[in-house]
Amino acid sequence: MSREWARPIPGADGVSSTYWEAGARGELLFQQCPACGNRQLYPRALCTACGETPEWVQASGRGTVHTFTIIRQNYAKPFRDELPYVVAIVELEEGPRLMSNVTGVPADEVSIGLPVEVYFEVAAEGIGVPFFRPI
Ligand SMILES: [Zn+2]
Repeated sequence: MSREWARPIPGADGVSSTYWEAGARGELLFQQCPACGNRQLYPRALCTACGETPEWVQASGRGTVHTFTIIRQNYAKPFRDELPYVVAIVELEEGPRLMSNVTGVPADEVSIGLPVEVYFEVAAEGIGVPFFRPI
């Protein structure tokens, strides 16, 4: 971690705390249903397909940019100091998608299908937030 966390801190609850704690260890988790096989993110108490209790699976951390936008205006700290930045929906190679930032590349060079890998910044004790950078 190279800088102090200045963004809002995600609020972990009984369902998501496992996810955030894994992130603090550098592991990206998604949920998979033992009954029907449905895979999902963000974390939920129940499978969105059948209502069973999902299990946690560790993702490889690799995926591709499914879609994205470039934020060029944001007057709120600390985001205004990061402009322009990329907000993307990343599709993990296991299937689930999550919203994150793509960093480590000029915003104008991000494209749909860009291969990326996860890294984490620790926002607080037991809260690791995933970011992605090109492979
Ligand atoms: Zn299910």
